Amino acid sequence: MVLEAEDQIGYHSSGRSATMLHYALGDRLVRALTLASRPFFDDPPDGFTDVPIGHAMPVLIHGREDEREALDQLEADLSAFAQLERLDAASVHELCPLLKDDAAHGLADRRGIRLDPHALLQGNLRQLRTRGGELRTSQRIAAIEHSGGAWTVTSETGHRFSAPILVNAAGAWADEVAKVAGVQPVGLEPKRRTIITFDAPPGTDLDHLPFAKTVGDELYFAPESGRLFASPMDEVPSDPTDAQPDEYEVALAAHRMAERTTVEVKQIHSKWAGLRSFTPDHHPAAGFAPDAEGFFWLAGQGGFGLQTSPAMAAIVESRIAGTEWPVADVDASDLAPDRFLAQHA
Ligand SMILES: Cc1cc2nc3c(=O)[nH]c(=O)nc-3n(C[C@H](O)[C@H](O)[C@H](O)COP(=O)(O)OP(=O)(O)OC[C@H]3O[C@@H](n4cnc5c(N)ncnc54)[C@H](O)[C@@H]3O)c2cc1C
Repeated sequence: MVLEAEDQIGYHSSGRSATMLHYALGDRLVRALTLASRPFFDDPPDGFTDVPIGHAMPVLIHGREDEREALDQLEADLSAFAQLERLDAASVHELCPLLKDDAAHGLADRRGIRLDPHALLQGNLRQLRTRGGELRTSQRIAAIEHSGGAWTVTSETGHRFSAPILVNAAGAWADEVAKVAGVQPVGLEPKRRTIITFDAPPGTDLDHLPFAKTVGDELYFAPESGRLFASPMDEVPSDPTDAQPDEYEVALAAHRMAERTTVEVKQIHSKWAGLRSFTPDHHPAAGFAPDAEGFFWLAGQGGFGLQTSPAMAAIVESRIAGTEWPVADVDASDLAPDRFLAQHA
């Protein structure tokens, strides 16, 4: 049984993401989870959805002359995970003609994937239903009790649901849900990130533009439904909430486009913000709570929750149902919530 507070799935972070699969996100552990997820995206299970869950989009990480060392370091870090091409200034501009002349160096991964989060969610929902599971929307959990080996949750509408295992996958709210259950929180920090969309200059070949990211966390942009989208890669601490874009970050996105590209953002077509929630070590928490029997954490997927979701799902299955551990390069202890609770004790 999946209980969702909103009247639809994907209303919060999962529906507000930049939807890229690339290896510049996170660190070694996140990259290992991404690599392990890739076969699912390349070849989803039969009947998963009727529409593609992603399409190919090259990834270009670029830098100015003064950012060359950072690009060298990133190339070394990523080389175990992606087939990278080192690009000179001419090749950088061939791949992304919108960048300013000072984009002197680049790293390209031609095998990036732009994911479709709605297809991904609908596919997962179809699998849930095929296997006898159920989704109940508009069921915001307000009370949680544990007795006689069962967790009973009561929603704001007064509905009650009981099960021996409770998976806390409440995104930015996961610590709040734990507190309601009397379980020690892991120290989750939701951080807001903003995206704007706007027209590309006339004549831009949107079909072949890459997802282009500065080597530092300053700016990324990519084609989006006949326009461009961009983010200033903001990480503004936030309470768990229905995140809204702030004018400062909206202006910053346009400003950074002007700094790094030849595109002038004349008019913003749309804007949104979402929360990326991090544990203290920026690795997800996936495992049973040490302080509450049958309470399972699945939280802290930060800015990489879509691209790591197949591996994380298999990990959750392994921990709960005892199936084979799916990711050789990651250990269950890397993800166990215990690591935070010891620190917090
Ligand atoms: C701007 C932005 C860009 C991103 N870019 C990428 C990217 O390029 N690639 C990538 O892989 N990831 C990216 N991410 C990260 C990704 O979107 C998240 O890691 C992922 O969506 C987290 O999924 P989640 O299910 O944990 O959270 P959510 O999608 O927020 O789901 C949590 C759900 O829990 C529900 N809930 C909360 N409290 C309760 C309650 N009391 N009772 C019932 N239900 C409750 C909420 O309503 C919500 O629907 C990005 C995120 C943002 C915001």
